[in-house]
Amino acid sequence: MKLTVLGCWAPYPRVSGACSGYLVQDMGQNLLIDAGNGVLSKMLQHINIEDLDAVVLSHLHPDHMMDIYCLRHAIESANREGRMNRIVPLFMPTGPAEDFNRIMGFTKAFQVQIIDEMPEPRETILAGLKITFVPGKHNLPVYSLAVKGTRRLVFSGDTAYNEDLIKLTTGADLLLCEASGLDKDADYLKDNHLTARQAGQTAAAANAKRLMITHFYPEYVLSELQRQAEEGFGQTTELAREGATIEI
Ligand SMILES: [Zn+2]
Ligand SMILES: [Zn+2]
Repeated sequence: MKLTVLGCWAPYPRVSGACSGYLVQDMGQNLLIDAGNGVLSKMLQHINIEDLDAVVLSHLHPDHMMDIYCLRHAIESANREGRMNRIVPLFMPTGPAEDFNRIMGFTKAFQVQIIDEMPEPRETILAGLKITFVPGKHNLPVYSLAVKGTRRLVFSGDTAYNEDLIKLTTGADLLLCEASGLDKDADYLKDNHLTARQAGQTAAAANAKRLMITHFYPEYVLSELQRQAEEGFGQTTELAREGATIEI
């Protein structure tokens, strides 16, 4: 299983960067998780649009979904020009009506599966990849997800600390986890996001084999986030780095 970080910033990118976006390649599938602003351009450095098999949006905040608006055009153009003759499965929760209804209208690009409407346990199979969704704690409907193929990857989405994420992460080969702040921000973040230390504590409680933190506010010093995550995890912690591909 290969994971490529396409974007790691929130809620706006650093210079030349992109917001939330990750390409997972395993079992012959190319799965895009999140499509924050800037992510489509970064994805096209790794795969062609016609090789994209499925998309998951963890939630409908702009830093996780803005590029779905241009991805839609890329898929429609590929179909019109004969490079592609299918639409792409898109898994997403409900969200603000304006964005949700607009995306639901992109029927020439996406076959939408609304995660909230999937029966529990919310699972789907994509040609050998099993994806499991668990609700997170955020100010919009959001889902954490596990992708199981040759390895098991868990992505937190945006969420406050919660037991369901720990359960989902149990035994994961890699937890890709948001780390939206330092200890000093804990009070400000507590209902919507994880601090770096809490990301570490989540990985430790779940016995995850590896932890990579992401969802960085551009003004932070990343080595400070990394240090607090490592203190929480009790082990070495990786920083998401745009353009980097790792083998899980
Ligand atoms: Zn976010
Ligand atoms: Zn969010």
